[in-house]
Amino acid sequence: MSSGPRNRLAATVSARLTFWYSLISIASLALAFAVAYLVIASDLSRRIDQDMADEAREFSTVLASQGLQGLKAYIKLESESANPPEEIYQVFDSQGRLVASSDPGAWPGRPPLSPADLKRALAGSPVFSTISLPGPLKKARLLCAAIGPGLVLRIGQSLDDTERLLSELRRVFGAVTAIGLVLAALAGWFMARRALSGVAALTRTAAEIGRQDLESRVPVSGSGDEIDELARTFNAMLDRIQGLVAGMKEMTDSVAHDLRGPVARIRLAAEMALEGGTGGQKPAGMAAAVVEECDQLLALINTTLAISEAEAGLTRLETVRLDLAGLAQEAAELFRPVAEDKGIELRVEASSPAEVAGDRRKLQRAVANLLDNAIKYTPRGGSVSVGVVLEAGRVVLNVRDSGPGIPEADLLRIFDRFYRGDQSRSQPGHGLGLSLTRAFVSLHQGRISVASAPGQGSTFTVSLPRHSAA
Ligand code: ADP
Repeated sequence: MSSGPRNRLAATVSARLTFWYSLISIASLALAFAVAYLVIASDLSRRIDQDMADEAREFSTVLASQGLQGLKAYIKLESESANPPEEIYQVFDSQGRLVASSDPGAWPGRPPLSPADLKRALAGSPVFSTISLPGPLKKARLLCAAIGPGLVLRIGQSLDDTERLLSELRRVFGAVTAIGLVLAALAGWFMARRALSGVAALTRTAAEIGRQDLESRVPVSGSGDEIDELARTFNAMLDRIQGLVAGMKEMTDSVAHDLRGPVARIRLAAEMALEGGTGGQKPAGMAAAVVEECDQLLALINTTLAISEAEAGLTRLETVRLDLAGLAQEAAELFRPVAEDKGIELRVEASSPAEVAGDRRKLQRAVANLLDNAIKYTPRGGSVSVGVVLEAGRVVLNVRDSGPGIPEADLLRIFDRFYRGDQSRSQPGHGLGLSLTRAFVSLHQGRISVASAPGQGSTFTVSLPRHSAA
């Protein structure tokens, strides 16, 4: 058998599990990084704004204490501390004219102060903005704030360091996400394969069964997970199938065995007739023997079919209201001559009326089978009694005998088709009587049971629902 479909199934399910696992892992990782990135970026920009606002306050203190000259000296001092300049400082008057500035050559291409910003700053609200520059300083943050009467300070802070830090962060997060994706895919694949290994074992066992016999079982790990449960269910199903197959084989063997004798005898008679001889028998006697063999064969086949039909629930019942006590008495009378022939005492203790709703012929046959067995298996001089009593809404019929009893090992099997006890083989029969009786009793929503022990006799009990109108 090809292992293609198995691998394909595992590959498909594993691949799907791996895909979803990787996707979810990587989406979670990317989300965590995105949140971290946004928090860091906004914190950095908040700190820069805070620093610039603090500086503006310092400028305003210097102006108040040292005047414009002192402020210019302070600007020079501040702008010399960094080279190349990271910050520029410009002071404008209320008309927007530049009155002081740090290195004017720094930051080429910076925008002129807009009248709107000047107006807002003079009105007391600081104005923050971000600009892009054409030169080596690519991005900058600007603050315009009033630092004294009619004077506005513009601070420009290069954002290059921040941008570098953020781009480094993006690179690291990107690399970690890529590595995470590979690891998540590997972990997902490993986990999917592990989870599906039980399914693979199941598939292997199923394939083995297809190839060989029903003996194989899937290993159960005992972990109690879903795969374990599946393995248990699968094994239980195999047990049932094995039981059914064994039962069918046994039945086929029994049928073949029971058919072989009569068919061989019929064939022998036909052969003799062909050769012109009758083996000392009269032709009419031989024909009668063949007819009898055929009748027995037909009876065997019909009984087997009747049991199958009844067990499948296909038998049509002609239900009437009938008295089981009367039916038991009639059956006993029918068997009385046989019992007397064998010197068996046959007693009936049935109190009428014991009404049930049932098919007369089928119930007659069920009771007759029990009586037939009781008389057949009870040795000469023994006794058989039939009793019918009413018990809590049910009619209970007992057939008790003083026969050899039934060994415990047989008790579970005597209702199986074709099963015959070892000690019973000297008696005629095919092992179908009790199966048919049980099937007919079940059709009437009844129950049948047996109580017996070797040397103690046997009691078969049939319990049927009492007729509802009774
Ligand atoms: P059969 O009588 O044709 O063998 P049954 O289905 O009627 O088939 O019974 C099955 C087996 O149950 C018998 O072979 C016999 O071993 C056992 N059995 C049934 N009834 C009795 C009984 N009254 N006493 C002892 N054994 C019995």
